[in-house]
Amino acid sequence: MGGIFVLRTHLRLTILSLVVCFSLNPHSLHAQVSQRPAAFGIPQTPPLVGDTTALALEAQNWLVDLIKINTTNPPGNEQAAAKYIAGVLAKEGIQAEILDLTPGRSAVVARLRSTAVADPSRALLLVAHMDVVGVDRSKWSVDPFGGIVKDGYIWGRGSIDDKSMLAANLAAFIALKRGGVHLNRDVIFLGTADEEQFGDASMKMVIAKYWDKIASGYAINEGGQVVVKNGKAQYVAVQVSEKVSVNVELTATGKGGHSSTPTKDNPVVHIAAAVDKIGNYTAPIHLTSIVRRYFEGLAPLEDEETSKWMRVVDTPDRGEHAQRYLSDASPMWNSMMRDTVAPTMLQAGIRANVIPSEAHATINIRLIPGDTIDVFVNDLKKLVNDPQIRWDISLDGGFAAPNSSLDTDFYTLITKVSAQEFGGVPVLPFMSTGATDSAQLRLHNVQAYGLRPMPLTEEDQRRVHGDEERLPMASFAKGVDCLVHIVAEFSVNR
Ligand SMILES: [Zn+2]
Repeated sequence: MGGIFVLRTHLRLTILSLVVCFSLNPHSLHAQVSQRPAAFGIPQTPPLVGDTTALALEAQNWLVDLIKINTTNPPGNEQAAAKYIAGVLAKEGIQAEILDLTPGRSAVVARLRSTAVADPSRALLLVAHMDVVGVDRSKWSVDPFGGIVKDGYIWGRGSIDDKSMLAANLAAFIALKRGGVHLNRDVIFLGTADEEQFGDASMKMVIAKYWDKIASGYAINEGGQVVVKNGKAQYVAVQVSEKVSVNVELTATGKGGHSSTPTKDNPVVHIAAAVDKIGNYTAPIHLTSIVRRYFEGLAPLEDEETSKWMRVVDTPDRGEHAQRYLSDASPMWNSMMRDTVAPTMLQAGIRANVIPSEAHATINIRLIPGDTIDVFVNDLKKLVNDPQIRWDISLDGGFAAPNSSLDTDFYTLITKVSAQEFGGVPVLPFMSTGATDSAQLRLHNVQAYGLRPMPLTEEDQRRVHGDEERLPMASFAKGVDCLVHIVAEFSVNR
């Protein structure tokens, strides 16, 4: 017996039996997902979206196929993935639309209608990006674009970021169609391009050119996580806010010349000194309401010492020490509490015996939403205090967006279903230090929530954008189950 009988029954069952106790063993989960308990006398109605075990296996094949389509950005080549997805949907009798952005780069969109006339403010958008970051093949033990499944894992670039969400969204979308359910809102599937570079083919272009096709009040995107420690899910983080990424280019200029007669204006020395100061800069604390809520929720799960400091992070007397303690304990916590800057690229010189006339450094700044780049850069300029250096703020930086609300029915539902799926663990609002497509959506009044309901250990999480990216099969199946439940409960008429 399996799956969702009716949603309400499923809820009661889960509460009664606390069936889901996530185990990290990649082989054990299918059994858990499929073996839902008997219905304790609650009358059953016909299946709504069915048992997700088979669906998850199908979706795993889509994920494998998507990994095999190399969408490394640049150049992206997302059109190939868009066409593949349109093909999967066509088999279900769903007509998808390819949205052309730039040559070779497209988004893909499809819609399940609730009524003849759409109400965008109610619509739910399922969004995931189709592009991936590059690989260093020499560091991989398997072909990163081979779609290899072995040892209980799906291996490959994008297996987590973000093709796992792409395939899971596809599964949830198709489940609704197959279930022949009555929707209470339109549900829109969207595969985006160019998320990793945020260039001309990215979400901002989809919004500029095709907003009417994706206009929605709510969205599910990447950005959250289910954190696994010691083989068990610890908590679920739902991304409702994100930091803003801005690059700044520093150029030091000097006269240049023969290195046998060095001068004090050597641009290499000036840029190095600037990078040293910037690299050691620590911005003041800026605690947002989301980050406060996050620490509050996390405190009971941490060790005694960490927990103690999390509870007083915002107090006048012990706050300062707490902030220092938490900053030292975790680079992510540090970045959640303040603007940060990281020098990322250096460029100078053409010959060993020539002092160049220019030297360059790129620094990447991550702002707490609401903080302004000009103020931050001015602080850095004062710190560096070097008239030989020019500062150019990149114009294609991210935009600060308002938080998604913690008071919507949708957030409440995500919280409830996630807690049930993962054995009653806390569900916390989260500000991601990384950027996603959600900022663009939030700027257009979409209540976007970042999930990745595939439970991951820190070790597997670290492989995102790194070497040997892989996703436990059991985590994927669990994620599909969670996502199907969230989407179905929000969009299906009872
Ligand atoms: Zn991503």
